[in-house]
Amino acid sequence: MPAGEPAVDAQPAAPDHPSDTVLGHSLGRKLVLATLVFSLLFTGLSVAARTWLAWQANVATMNTELALIGDVFQRALAKAIWEMDREDLLAHMASMAQVQSVGRIELRLRQSGRSPEVLQQRKPGAPEGGRAPTLQRELSYSPYPGAVEVIGDFTLQGDERLLWLRLRGELLEIVLTQVLQSVLLAGLIMWLFHRSVTVHVRRIARHLATLTPETLGRRLQLQRAAAHRDELTLLEAGVNHLQGNLSDYLARQHRDERELAAHRDRLADLVDAKTTELRAVNTRLERLSRADPLTDLANRRHFDEVKETELRRARRQQLPLSLLVCDVDYFKRYNDTYGHAHGDQCLQAVADALKQTFTRSGDFCARIGGEEFAVLLPALDAEQAVAAAERLRARLLQMGLPHTGSLVALHVTLSIGVAQFDEETMHRFDELMQRADEALYRAKNRGRNRVSN
Ligand code: GH3
Ligand code: MG
Ligand code: MG
Repeated sequence: MPAGEPAVDAQPAAPDHPSDTVLGHSLGRKLVLATLVFSLLFTGLSVAARTWLAWQANVATMNTELALIGDVFQRALAKAIWEMDREDLLAHMASMAQVQSVGRIELRLRQSGRSPEVLQQRKPGAPEGGRAPTLQRELSYSPYPGAVEVIGDFTLQGDERLLWLRLRGELLEIVLTQVLQSVLLAGLIMWLFHRSVTVHVRRIARHLATLTPETLGRRLQLQRAAAHRDELTLLEAGVNHLQGNLSDYLARQHRDERELAAHRDRLADLVDAKTTELRAVNTRLERLSRADPLTDLANRRHFDEVKETELRRARRQQLPLSLLVCDVDYFKRYNDTYGHAHGDQCLQAVADALKQTFTRSGDFCARIGGEEFAVLLPALDAEQAVAAAERLRARLLQMGLPHTGSLVALHVTLSIGVAQFDEETMHRFDELMQRADEALYRAKNRGRNRVSN
């Protein structure tokens, strides 16, 4: 893996929903299997132990049986040997051989000065030696009281086949009882486990699987007797506690979300209101930035914007464009006579006269200096512009604003310079402006209160 690359966790992805988990082997089944395996081991060991004990018991039983046979036949055998009654002796041996537990009989007869005579009888099929017990007894005879003579001895060997036969019968019982015991034990454990654990664990799993934020208030109830107070009780209480906490948390979260949404709405309203307010202020500011505050006519800045536009339009449409430059006559004297405040009012009155005179759409009046005004007259030639300027003068005359300081009239008058844009000789608006200024200068020189072009 290249350095710096995050290690990839090879674990399988968790299922989306608890019920998606495929249930493998249930806990109860695992427990039963474990119990069965243990029981089988235990069964094997206990069968071995019990078999060994049974073998020992059978060997002991056979010992007892051989001892009993020895007790029964000892005297008769000794008598037959003493009396040298071979027929009787063989008959006794045959009788002993008839007993089930006897496998072999060996009789040794002592003979003075000679090696003892050995008589032997073996049951057909009885193994020699082996694991069967052996009984050895001396044979003595008392021909008269006080005298005892050893005349031989005999050996009884048990029949090993009988031991095995008996053991086989017991072994079957041992195995059957042990297996039955183990199976019953496993069944009991499974039943108990199922009843006291599995059922409740499944109920908890079902409860958790169907849990949604809406059903968090539904408590887990294991339906057990109140006396049961164990780990499952703790688990039940833990699940309910967790649900309670989750429910509280979700309720808090919902409340916070609602409050947040309300705040957001309020904020949006506020922003809307402020935006509208700002827009209005901006509009007002924009208007103010282009308007003359005293007369509410367009200011010099606005005039400079419009003049270029109108010039381009006149060129494009091949229409005339005329300009008036108006200056209040002897305005300094007006201020001196009536005061600056009245001077302002006079300027407002002159502005009103302009507004009332130039009402065509496209006519554009602006205050371009202290007591100087300009009027753009699209689509009017110089002659028409002079006529319009005369109308303005006439209106002022009609208004009759007193101006006792004026040297040309008793009322406020204007000197007006008129110029028309000439495509041939002019290239920029300033040249038109200059021509209008020159005309104004002429009007002033010729005595004021007049229109010149
Ligand atoms: P002329 O006839 O040659 O134009 O003489 P005039 O006195 O009008 O011209 P001049 O340029 O000598 O004086 C103009 C005066 O206008 C001077 C100034 O105090 C006054 N003025 C300029 N702006 C304002 C204003 O906004 N308000 C008032 N009240 N007076 C202004
Ligand atoms: Mg002036
Ligand atoms: Mg003036």
